[in-house]
Amino acid sequence: MREKGTKAVVIGAGIGGLTVAALLAQRGVAVTVLESQTYPGGCAATFDRHGYRFDAGATVGCGFHKKGPLALLGEELGISWPILSCRAAWDFIHGDRLIHLSHSKQEILREFPVSEPFWDAQQRLASLLWSLSSEVLPWPPGGFGDISTLLRKVIRKTPSLSPMLPLAYKTALQWLASYGLDTDSDFVRFVDAQLLISVQTTAAHANAVNAAIALDLPAKGTHRLTGGIGSVAEKLAASVNDNGGNVFYGAAAQNIESRGRHVVSVTTSDGRSHPADLVIANLTPESLAGLLGERVSLARNKVPKPEWGAFVLYLGVEESVFNEMPVGHVQIVRERGDLGEGNSIFVSVSPSDDSLRAPEGFRAVTVSTHSRPEPWFEAKAAGKEEYGRLKESYTKKILLLLSQHFNDIEQKIHSVSAATPVTWERYTGRKHGYVGGYPQTSLFNVRGPGTPFRNLFLAGDSVFPGQSLPGVVTGARRVAELVERKFGTRSKK
Ligand SMILES: Cc1cc2nc3c(=O)[nH]c(=O)nc-3n(C[C@H](O)[C@H](O)[C@H](O)COP(=O)(O)OP(=O)(O)OC[C@H]3O[C@@H](n4cnc5c(N)ncnc54)[C@H](O)[C@@H]3O)c2cc1C
Repeated sequence: MREKGTKAVVIGAGIGGLTVAALLAQRGVAVTVLESQTYPGGCAATFDRHGYRFDAGATVGCGFHKKGPLALLGEELGISWPILSCRAAWDFIHGDRLIHLSHSKQEILREFPVSEPFWDAQQRLASLLWSLSSEVLPWPPGGFGDISTLLRKVIRKTPSLSPMLPLAYKTALQWLASYGLDTDSDFVRFVDAQLLISVQTTAAHANAVNAAIALDLPAKGTHRLTGGIGSVAEKLAASVNDNGGNVFYGAAAQNIESRGRHVVSVTTSDGRSHPADLVIANLTPESLAGLLGERVSLARNKVPKPEWGAFVLYLGVEESVFNEMPVGHVQIVRERGDLGEGNSIFVSVSPSDDSLRAPEGFRAVTVSTHSRPEPWFEAKAAGKEEYGRLKESYTKKILLLLSQHFNDIEQKIHSVSAATPVTWERYTGRKHGYVGGYPQTSLFNVRGPGTPFRNLFLAGDSVFPGQSLPGVVTGARRVAELVERKFGTRSKK
């Protein structure tokens, strides 16, 4: 409510921060977004280099399907996303096995026919979960208000929730075991590869309910974004501005000032102080703790700690290499070896008809693999040469895997750059370069947006339901509702 002058400062213009900012600005709050980079999007940004526009991290447009979190957000904010529906989500390649992952499970069933009853159950549960996500459930509950909202919303769905209950405490692997699928090593490797990129852990550890919705992403349908995935953040930032808010770039928050359990302002690196009635930190808890100093602990013992960083190659490649590639994304998994660390890669190629992304005759390619941050920081501490050697060895390993699937690719690469967890820390401010949120091993040991400060909230993939565009948008809507309840903002509509 602008007439009362409610001032919200949002730290970080990632998808989480911008979603909260856009919703609050639309509801009349005076919003200031502080972003340390010169462009929005964070892990879901698109950046310019060497004449290409590369997607930095996220490349697959998830959640834009009918009634999906991004579709609903667009409707609410009056944003028309620059999207085109994809025929298939991505290809999965494991040895000689190639599966197009699409709306239909046909190809999965062709490869793993006995898995059909599992997929039927997965689809039923996922449909329920998608409908719950549109309800913006206040999970985990942060107080009495949340509990009563939860009860009200959940009671309405009680009969349909019953299939979820037995799975709430199971791992995905235990769920597979109930269909006799846990001993099929090829099937488990397929599921592991899907889960690692969506819930940040494999079937042996992933919670079964989280796995159900993660395995549904290709079936729900994916979209490509003209100009790159960064268009989502750009549209959200424009919505903030259109509703009277401000997005400041090159504005790194350095300190959050508080009085007792109340935050009062945010100071940026240029020395400016931004007074605030409420602050939303689109940061990891570790990075937020850095802005609060020693005043409070944000640690939660039982909440799983983030485990993964990412090594990413950005390649400018002659487009002839991809003539035979019908789908824009391909996941390539080595036959043996733990997943990640260059043994499994996700390759995304800019569409041939998106002239914003690459010079004519070329494509902008993002190749990512999960990588543990610790060795990268150790190598960095050991010196430039050691760090350079590690970078080169990952680059070579990935180029070798690529060359086994794309003929002559090495001769047709015109531009190469790489991001390691050290780079991710520098660009996104995420301590130790952890990306992708927390491993989704439990439905109960999860973090909500609350902090020890009454008017300071977390948004982004560290809070439930975690990573991905749809996940982060769902979590951010909860923050907007929480703020509305606590601070009495109201819609302008
Ligand atoms: C390699 C990779 C591939 C992925 N692939 C997909 C995919 O295909 N599809 C999908 O849906 N999701 C994908 N994801 C996940 C998705 O990108 C993230 O979950 C989501 O973008 C995280 O958004 P966020 O709002 O939590 O924060 P972030 O993206 O981390 O944004 C935080 C923002 O805060 C800014 N910031 C940090 N510190 C400060 C400070 N002190 N002051 C001011 N600003 C600050 C940062 O610069 C950044 O812009 C992928 C992630 C990665 C890393």
